[in-house]
Amino acid sequence: MSNLHTLSVQEIITGLANKDFSSLELTNHLLNRIDSLDKDINSFITVTADLAKEQAKLADELRAKGDSRPLLGVPMAHKDIFCTQGVLTTCGSKMLYNFVSPYNATIVENIANAGMISLGKLNMDEFAMGSDNEKSYYGAVHNPWDLERVPGGSSGGSAAAVAAGFVPVATGSDTGGSIRQPASFCGLTGIKPTYGRVSRFGMIAYASSFDQAGAFGRSALDCACLLQAMSGYDPKDSTSVNKEVPDWLGELDKVSGDKPLAGLRVGVPQEYFGTGLNADVKAKIEDALKVYQDLGATLVYVHLTDPQITLATYYLLAPAEASSNLSRFDGVRYGYRCENPKDLHDLYTRSRSEGFGAEVQRRIIMGTYALSAGYFDAYYVKAQKVRRLILNDFLKAFETCDIIATPTAPTVAYKLGENLSPAEIYMGDVYTIGVNLAGLPSLSHPVGFVGGLPVGLQLIGKHWAESELLKTAHVYQANTKFHQEMADLVK
Ligand code: GLN
Repeated sequence: MSNLHTLSVQEIITGLANKDFSSLELTNHLLNRIDSLDKDINSFITVTADLAKEQAKLADELRAKGDSRPLLGVPMAHKDIFCTQGVLTTCGSKMLYNFVSPYNATIVENIANAGMISLGKLNMDEFAMGSDNEKSYYGAVHNPWDLERVPGGSSGGSAAAVAAGFVPVATGSDTGGSIRQPASFCGLTGIKPTYGRVSRFGMIAYASSFDQAGAFGRSALDCACLLQAMSGYDPKDSTSVNKEVPDWLGELDKVSGDKPLAGLRVGVPQEYFGTGLNADVKAKIEDALKVYQDLGATLVYVHLTDPQITLATYYLLAPAEASSNLSRFDGVRYGYRCENPKDLHDLYTRSRSEGFGAEVQRRIIMGTYALSAGYFDAYYVKAQKVRRLILNDFLKAFETCDIIATPTAPTVAYKLGENLSPAEIYMGDVYTIGVNLAGLPSLSHPVGFVGGLPVGLQLIGKHWAESELLKTAHVYQANTKFHQEMADLVK
């Protein structure tokens, strides 16, 4: 079969069960594609071809012996923020250019236990700070829909690899939009679960009170498959919540009827449709809202905190946490160390200024400033209070609606090398970061194209309501075709 790279996870599961192809054949097919096409996309930092072939062979043997794990032998790949035992884990940084993790992140372990095959580690903005994947030490990632454009970030490698047909699904992390925005730019579905749903153990920390791992796929169904394998309580992460994980796939299976969204109240916050939003993107979002209505949903107008305030709050608190988290990279214990340090002070300063890129240094400086004596109350404590008010606004909105719909990003993917200022790039996160400040689950799904480039709609759920997000997107996808469109290089 020559179209193996276009199959959904469900189709792969069926194909493997029917012996239409083996996991090894599928894995080889995908590895060959990566080999011939990824030089133009740069989505992988490390391809673990030998390991993947070994695992695929083993999966085929286990299947033949009656192992019935549904995801056994299904390929995927990990964002390079997740520690993988014995495999390079760079976090997109020169600082970790030689870091081979001695242990697996919990999600890496969970996904391997489900029988999935990892093809390698995906490119990303350095330490997950960025929105365009131009901030990687390992080079920019190119958007498969238009190689001159950014794939979004920071999980740009994950999004590009799925959109290029290298893997059906991939992991990502989302601290302020890093799954949803690249999903939007690359025509994919991407879900960031509720804070606490997925373990952060072994995920290199950026801003710990925001960071959450999640999944990319072509559809809500594919995302549900990967998220199911990742999720669950982990005593190794003190913020992991001991709560039963629903059977998301089972729930999606049950969706039926002529008006499957009947009774669903979709909240539309006018603050998220203001001046910064590209008019063509806005029109696509409005079209999608009409589809929701046709499928039985009711639109309700709700208020959320002005996203400009949300943006300022995030860009104060996230760098503050980052400045503290990144202090561990000191050139002494592991990672990059400068040549010939004169003394200890020189070792610290040069290792950090040579090992970190400009954006990471900017965030460390901003964060350290906000936390410093004299400014702590004025900036950090104040922003924490605003964070609570932002959550309150979401909770208030959810008194009159079940789910909130907004644009995922104000524009479609922009050109690589446009040299936007940091502030202009931060503006691109304006609709996604509120969710992280409030710890809510959120999903982006494709709703059309502007100038041949994908547009994503963001759904935001109540805490722990991943089911509602997946179901709503699934119903939309069962009745539309946007998620089935693929970039030319996939066809
Ligand atoms: N673009 C945002 C930032 O640069 C979000 C990043 C993320 O979610 N990891 O901080």
